[in-house]
Amino acid sequence: MSKRGSFTEFGLIEKIKKSAVSRPDVVCGIGDDTAVLDYSASKYLLMTTDMMAEGVHFNKRIAPRSIGHKALACNISDIAAMGGIPTHAVVSIALPPKTSARFVKDVYAGINALARRFKVSVVGGDTISSRQFVINITLLGEVEKKNLVLRSGARDGDWIFVTGSLGRAWKSDRHVSFTPRVEEARFLVSRYKPSAMIDISDGLAGDLGHILKQSRVGGVLVADQIPLNPKANVENALCDGEDFELAFTLSDAQSRKLVDWQLKSGRWFFYPIGVITRSKDLKLMTADGRITKISSKGYSHF
Ligand code: ADP
Ligand code: MG
Repeated sequence: MSKRGSFTEFGLIEKIKKSAVSRPDVVCGIGDDTAVLDYSASKYLLMTTDMMAEGVHFNKRIAPRSIGHKALACNISDIAAMGGIPTHAVVSIALPPKTSARFVKDVYAGINALARRFKVSVVGGDTISSRQFVINITLLGEVEKKNLVLRSGARDGDWIFVTGSLGRAWKSDRHVSFTPRVEEARFLVSRYKPSAMIDISDGLAGDLGHILKQSRVGGVLVADQIPLNPKANVENALCDGEDFELAFTLSDAQSRKLVDWQLKSGRWFFYPIGVITRSKDLKLMTADGRITKISSKGYSHF
């Protein structure tokens, strides 16, 4: 993991977490894809936020419409990772003095097109001026209590799945055009009981690493089974990030059923790529049968 000054991104979040004040209605605060808040008898409220800055998450070549799309899509992806559906958003933008009205209109066209598809209401926000363009979206969502999936439930013997191909998302326009996997996650939680789930924003190694750490387990990935984007290799899948696919774990019995269902229906949405183990590290098995340890470095924006 890369460092900034004397701290890593995750080290910093750990420190913030330790000092955070918590109300009794906080079911899950800092440390998962979204916060989980007690809400009604049958549902939890989900809350998440993501900030994107020019030069870090997109460059000048990316169309403003795509920037808007990505800013909302990243948040929707985090709601999907909890098994939920997105509902309401607030959008804040920091604009350099010379920003055109057209640019802002196009960013919102991207937000609104995706908001329409996922029935998200934009209900507020904030606008300030700054030297660099920054956009921050906070998104609410909801999930039936029985369908909530955290990062912490993976168990020895579970299978590890991903919802699509990984690697080099940054090299194509995938990282600004992806469809968040809400439909796939809702299918999954309504028919199966995934034990843990996360969206892959920082690379499979790092993000799966969060599941392993929070579930106190390890895992072995089968290199040949990891679905790859064009020109991507396993290293890209493990470390690039920005894929916004979901990684999840499922019991052995349910995994067999899921694979059976996919074989029978001829529709393949969920790719088995490995298994959860008791030893606490992440390993990779290559075609020659060799097993090597993977460091959870993932991809860090710092
Ligand atoms: P994701 O990649 O799923 O968006 P992050 O890696 O950004 O998640 O964050 C991990 C966890 O840390 C989340 O629960 C997030 O809300 C929390 N978090 C990140 N930055 C901060 C911060 N500055 N203050 C408080 N919590 C934070
Ligand atoms: Mg996430």
